[in-house]
Amino acid sequence: MRVLLALGGNAMTNADGRARPEDQIAAAEVAMEAVADLVAEGVDVVVTHGNGPQVGNLLVKNELAAAVVPPVPLDWCGAQTQATLGFVLMNALDAALTRRGIDRRSAATVTRTRVDRDDPGFTKPTKPIGRFLPADEAAVLVEHGETWEDRGEKGWRRVVASPEPLEVIDAPAVQALVEAGFVVVANGGGGIPVVRREDGSLEGVEAVIDKDLGAALLARTVDADVLVIATDVPNAVLRYGTPDAEAIGTVSAAGLRSLAAEGHFASGSMGPKVDAACRFVEHGGSRSVITDLAHIVDAVTGDNAGTVVQN
Ligand code: ADP
Ligand code: MG
Repeated sequence: MRVLLALGGNAMTNADGRARPEDQIAAAEVAMEAVADLVAEGVDVVVTHGNGPQVGNLLVKNELAAAVVPPVPLDWCGAQTQATLGFVLMNALDAALTRRGIDRRSAATVTRTRVDRDDPGFTKPTKPIGRFLPADEAAVLVEHGETWEDRGEKGWRRVVASPEPLEVIDAPAVQALVEAGFVVVANGGGGIPVVRREDGSLEGVEAVIDKDLGAALLARTVDADVLVIATDVPNAVLRYGTPDAEAIGTVSAAGLRSLAAEGHFASGSMGPKVDAACRFVEHGGSRSVITDLAHIVDAVTGDNAGTVVQN
């Protein structure tokens, strides 16, 4: 069996959202224990991960150091976080595999994902990233060509394009590594967004791809049987946060789509996970599961854990 596991930000940082190196290493160790448990069950695992807090931190460095060292574009930030998190995850994963006496190794790939230059996100950016700034400081960055929005009490925040992921350019490399027996970390942060130039070459663009939608695309491309979206809640929930909240168990893609249309899933958090889970099944994947780290082995072995999407 082949599983694509998407790890949310909570699996990569402290519960309070802090992303000190020691927090990230500790979180990776917890998450990779779960991955090693899956590998011990004989499952081929491809891991992908979010990078929101890490890119946010790089953007702050860009801003504060702009007069001293040249700021780097957003696609570079994506590449840097794929490399750093890949390194952290590989160390944790190799240690967890060794402890279990499993003779398999990890590999991490810098992964590019193609988007459309004409994606509506580039003319109307919607994805908030990085820290909040007071209006006067945001104005300086607007002068430099960035889009910032007034988010009320907390201040201003940068918004960028979050284009639709169309093709995981490096999926063949991921596939080859999986077939050679590696446990692969790939497509972190949804992939580094690139567009194809007229001459066929690729160029990074100023955008971020949704990690969950990127995961659904990679899952299809590497022929995963199951897409597991690991976050900090055991289930997607109806009437979330209300006294009549109700966990969703097994549901069809069409059924989950109609619940989404009723507005049960917040657009910046559970919404894209639900969309990704549905997409994978709609494109022929056998099962998607949304759950927390504690339940991922049960989710994969089919013990009815989490929110299970299958037709
Ligand atoms: P990740 O870092 O794993 O991507 P997110 O914070 O983006 O996590 O999404 C998970 C969060 O979605 C949960 O912690 C919860 O607060 C929120 N959420 C919003 N709507 C729902 C819902 N209907 N059911 C469950 N969680 C929801
Ligand atoms: Mg998220």
